[in-house]
Amino acid sequence: MNSLKPEKGSILIVDDTPDNLRVLSATLGDRDYDVQCAINGKLALMAVANQPPDLVLLDIKMPEMDGYQVCEALKSQQKTADIPVIFLSALDDVIDKVKAFAVGGVDYITKPFQVEEVLARVEHQLTIRRLQKQLQNQNFRLQQLNEDLKRSNQELEQFAYIVSHDLQQPLQTITGFAELMLTLKSQINLEEEAEEYVLPILDEGMRLQQLIKNLLHYSRVGTKQAAFEAIDCNIILEETLSNLSLAIQESGAIITSEKLPMVFGDRLQLGQLFQNLIANAVKYHRPGIPPQITVSVMPKNQNWQFGIHDNGIGIPADKTQRIFQIFQRLHTQQEYPGNGIGLAICRKIIDRHRGDIWVESDLGLATSFYFTLPIYESQSPSITPEITTARNRPS
Ligand code: ADP
Repeated sequence: MNSLKPEKGSILIVDDTPDNLRVLSATLGDRDYDVQCAINGKLALMAVANQPPDLVLLDIKMPEMDGYQVCEALKSQQKTADIPVIFLSALDDVIDKVKAFAVGGVDYITKPFQVEEVLARVEHQLTIRRLQKQLQNQNFRLQQLNEDLKRSNQELEQFAYIVSHDLQQPLQTITGFAELMLTLKSQINLEEEAEEYVLPILDEGMRLQQLIKNLLHYSRVGTKQAAFEAIDCNIILEETLSNLSLAIQESGAIITSEKLPMVFGDRLQLGQLFQNLIANAVKYHRPGIPPQITVSVMPKNQNWQFGIHDNGIGIPADKTQRIFQIFQRLHTQQEYPGNGIGLAICRKIIDRHRGDIWVESDLGLATSFYFTLPIYESQSPSITPEITTARNRPS
């Protein structure tokens, strides 16, 4: 096959008469079509499975498997069903036109060929095929945009919910105490009772500030987007561990990792993803039991499947979906401080990278967060990662 000129279209010619094959392939090859030939039905099906062409020119009268049968076989497979088939028949053959169309043929040409007619019919079908492919691609793109739109609508709804609930609550405390101070201003000695009235205002004000900062961060995952680039996940992990070194040291966490692959993505966002998941694995440890955390990776289908495994408090089975929604927490501030935005950010980052994220947990024993990222194309998917690094409390 001539792979230098694929844009003109690839054609498989199937005919048991070598002379016909020669003439047709020379005629089409001279016009820069990408031509393959097969001398019987079986070889034709193998050629199609190996490298699906844009069009098949198919002789009807062939030994063993005739053209109708070959066409039926092509139409019965999802992968090859859309390839247009033009039947070839000798002038003196009784061509069953109805059958030719019934088995899925789109046109037929009678031999001996008239070059101009062959070219016109071939080009006509290839144009339809090209337009069909364009339409399929556009449909796929539209579906993706539609999903993005649905997601951003859901996020908008969530934002409205957050503004009406979570942001209101600290504001009520702030305005409540401020009003109380005004009402009681003649009765209270502000110097003595400042702590009682002003500290809650300050606390809630700071909580509000942190909340707004995190919310902005969350919303920016979708809007402030850097271009994707090739990223070494080992470096991302190093940086994450360095950022978390204080929490790692304080908790006595031991973190080990398999050798990680290169991926294609947004460097800052993937750093944020690793950081949120590992920070949680450190934070949600069982009292008195230092966190043991491992980072794993393995190829699965067209993706790398990463895992972050801990030996912490675990998550109840009925809450494993909820925690990826914004502001969903399973603990009070006193038990474990936080604002319930970290995992929602992770999910948004993974959505943008067209991966999946989920959690599996043994309540009271262990939790594993998994996420997938597409395998970086310039590298062989058969690379099997090996355990190479053991990290403990980086400086
Ligand atoms: P935050 O940690 O600020 O509460 P996240 O969105 O990061 O917010 O997490 C949401 C909730 O999921 C947490 O409040 C916690 O209940 C649960 N969670 C997250 N990671 C873990 C983990 N490794 N082990 C147990 N629970 C976890």
